[in-house]
Amino acid sequence: MIGKLRQLTKQETDQISIKNILLDFLTAFREDRSLQREARVHRLALELDQLRVAHPRAVGVHHPSSLHLGSNKPAVCPRRLAYGVRKQISIFGPVEPRVYNIFEVGHDAGAKYQGWLSYLYGEDFYPEVPLQIPELNVYGHCDGVIHYPINGEKVKIGLELKTINLRGFENDIKNRPTAKHLDQGALYMVGLDLPAMVFLYECKNTQEMKEFVITRDDVSKRWANIQQRLEHVNEHLEGGTLPRIRAQSWCHSCPFKVECRPFRTK
Ligand code: SF4
Repeated sequence: MIGKLRQLTKQETDQISIKNILLDFLTAFREDRSLQREARVHRLALELDQLRVAHPRAVGVHHPSSLHLGSNKPAVCPRRLAYGVRKQISIFGPVEPRVYNIFEVGHDAGAKYQGWLSYLYGEDFYPEVPLQIPELNVYGHCDGVIHYPINGEKVKIGLELKTINLRGFENDIKNRPTAKHLDQGALYMVGLDLPAMVFLYECKNTQEMKEFVITRDDVSKRWANIQQRLEHVNEHLEGGTLPRIRAQSWCHSCPFKVECRPFRTK
């Protein structure tokens, strides 16, 4: 039976580890090469199935991965978010081919972990779970949801898969996920009614893994900031206005800098 949403105790949260499950699985490869092959066939088949039904990224909505709004000061320009929704284009603008190559590496790593977890958990693992928070115009997909066994009960836990270079692995995620990823996780937990999320990072240079288990309580203040700032952006959109220009260094890489001119940066 799937457990209903409730707060997890610290003792329960401490039982959650996707990394340890994956390390045990990889250790089993050493003894059984046919397991490795079988798991690979499974994950490639799953990826193919997902690609066949995948939809293009929605436009005219807010995406959890773009909303860097939860810290004391938002790290994304609210006006830029409003432009993205109004013009129905990406707030990042066109990127160079090398960046698409980086995206592919991240995608491949994500598909690998999704495939392995699907192999291990069967129907208790759901990859690419859609979520929506319509009152804030937020739509997206969480990398996965697992029905994780805790004290004999299956509890819905979210999964976010990330790749990061060695410098970031050693310095930026020493004790917790990055602020941007925590924002993303807060939206997933609210949109999917999850009591906790596992953030699993793979170092691109060494394939070492690091994980963090974050609960709803851990992101409550962050969620309040995100909600308030998104409401501000949406009120402008509904009223046909735009949030004020906040000229920063980030303006120079903004796809809407022409619309915003004249602006001054310090
Ligand atoms: S140019 Fe600057 S102020 Fe204008 S939308 Fe872009 S980031 Fe915001």
